[in-house]
Amino acid sequence: MNTQPDRSTPAFRAVERLVRGVATSDGAGVRLTRVLTQDLQRRLDPFLMLDAFRNENPDDYIGGFPDHPHRGFETVTYMLAGRMRHRDSAGNEGLLGPGGAQWMTAGSGLIHSELPEQEAGLMEGFQLWLNLPAADKMVAPSYRDIPPDSIPEFTTPAGVRVRVLAGASHGVDGAVQRPHTEPLYIDVHLPAGSRFVQAIAPGHNAFAYTYRGQVDIAGTAVADRHMAILANDGAGEVCLDAPEAARVLIIAGRPLNEPIAQYGPFVMNTGEQIQQTLRDYQAGKFEAAVVQSL
Ligand code: MN
Repeated sequence: MNTQPDRSTPAFRAVERLVRGVATSDGAGVRLTRVLTQDLQRRLDPFLMLDAFRNENPDDYIGGFPDHPHRGFETVTYMLAGRMRHRDSAGNEGLLGPGGAQWMTAGSGLIHSELPEQEAGLMEGFQLWLNLPAADKMVAPSYRDIPPDSIPEFTTPAGVRVRVLAGASHGVDGAVQRPHTEPLYIDVHLPAGSRFVQAIAPGHNAFAYTYRGQVDIAGTAVADRHMAILANDGAGEVCLDAPEAARVLIIAGRPLNEPIAQYGPFVMNTGEQIQQTLRDYQAGKFEAAVVQSL
């Protein structure tokens, strides 16, 4: 006799919570919206931050992000419009343009700058911070520039265009695969009236961010520039319905379940490691970093 309670799994992940994001500025006065804030790091482990920026007035972006350090995690910058040049302490540099991305593993630490390569026009994109497992926080720093045509994309029969930055979607492998956290990062462009379903591993933390139009996720309307945190309800897929044309990021990953100690641009596991990081930074160890281009 079956005495188990009914534990039927929903077909699609529900929306657990909607988050609007916080208007702020960072670097040298760059205006942005911090969508994934520090209080959500535990819930959205392994993701530490998501910033969205979309500025037409150069005063809101021209200062960029002058020399600053990072240690202990990865940054993923995805540009939709505008150009940013990055330079690091090892003398590497690259230009990030519309539709392109940069995947940087800060690891043991580096100093870099991210500066606009334009004096007018729209600057739009995202920067995601992905945590590294404790065992990998001190790996040698590296980065990869991913030009627009190196980001795999496909279009579904319903006309939904999908760009796969990381992970896999509908059998298409993304530009980047990472062990441990197995991040999924896709940019989904939905025409009006279309539906898109994406597989998400059960147990992985996941969210969607609408940056144009609005979508419906399992009965919840997700308005423009809102993040929907998807419930960990055992469902293996998320389903987006677009009443109007919409563009949405879907991001998911396997949680690390390790302690998080953040002090500004440094993310370690303990306060002592943060103290050591500050000593290393003051001792000039970040300037001396050898940063590899992958
Ligand atoms: Mn940076």
